Amino acid sequence: MKIADLYARPGLTLSVEFFPPKTDKGEENLFSEITAIKRLNPAFCSVTYGAGGSTREKTVDLVDRIRRDCDLEAMCHLTVIGQSKDEARSVLKKLGQRGIENVLALGGDPPQGTEWKPHPDGFHYAVDLVREAKAQGDFSVAVAGFPEVHPRAESRASDLQYLKKKVDAGACVIITQLFYDNDPFYRFVEDVRKLGVSVPIVPGVLPILSAPQVRRFTALCGAKLPAALEKELSKVEEDDGAAVRVGIEYATRQCAALIKFGVPGLHFFSLNKSCSLQAICKNLGL
Ligand code: FAD
Repeated sequence: MKIADLYARPGLTLSVEFFPPKTDKGEENLFSEITAIKRLNPAFCSVTYGAGGSTREKTVDLVDRIRRDCDLEAMCHLTVIGQSKDEARSVLKKLGQRGIENVLALGGDPPQGTEWKPHPDGFHYAVDLVREAKAQGDFSVAVAGFPEVHPRAESRASDLQYLKKKVDAGACVIITQLFYDNDPFYRFVEDVRKLGVSVPIVPGVLPILSAPQVRRFTALCGAKLPAALEKELSKVEEDDGAAVRVGIEYATRQCAALIKFGVPGLHFFSLNKSCSLQAICKNLGL
């Protein structure tokens, strides 16, 4: 089913993001986590495309397998970086052939420690992929939004304009980068709406699993850690079990406020683990 139709249904649309595991054992573990996550009744899941386009085959195969074996709708991430236009086109063709209808069109992250640079024969921006996906097939296309502004953006205003361009090119949903301070998200929604963009804007939520890890992630994407959360994290620096508990409590409060604000859905970055999601959904009565 297309994500455009899933978000058109009444109620909160839950979605969960996975990454393709590197090993067979990791893939086995992922499928048992998916079994647990399915009990939360997510509308769909999504599968990331590795940094620099490194998991092309694996991502498509995993999306295919989840849809076939788990009776769960799955959206395929697809990035500009690390592939030529022809390679991106052939991935879209393969998705169409396999009946995969949902794509998250992205600029993509460079491999760790390297600078972002487009492939010499590739597309430059996510909007180019949106156009290509819409031209090639009957895809529902989601795009990324950045409540705290994309780190490479010229300005906040230009970042919002480029986001609007992605929607004008045919994107039907905006899923945001992770954030821990809801206020920039609320301002982001307000400003995107002022541009006349009416598609659902879905917050991306990362339940914290470890203090050093969340510091690394937020530094990479430019999200701020509010002082009160930073204080909690400093108490669990070397204790991941305790960090998970802090993460569950924080995400529960964060999501409750987002639901009160009226978000159409929640997109959880699961890091292939179900435990925190189960606790957060239980706390929220979902
Ligand atoms: P774009 O829309 O291309 O924007 C990138 C930058 O270019 C922004 O600063 C924008 O302001 C600017 N820009 C856009 N258009 C123009 C233009 N015409 N002229 C000048 N500047 C322009 N990364 C991965 O590698 N794999 C994944 O699977 C993945 N999944 C993600 C899932 C979600 C929900 C999110 C929010 C991000 C994900 N990312 C992933 C990270 C994302 O790919 C990076 O943050 C990337 O740097 C930006 O992607 P984008 O789609 O916003 O790119």
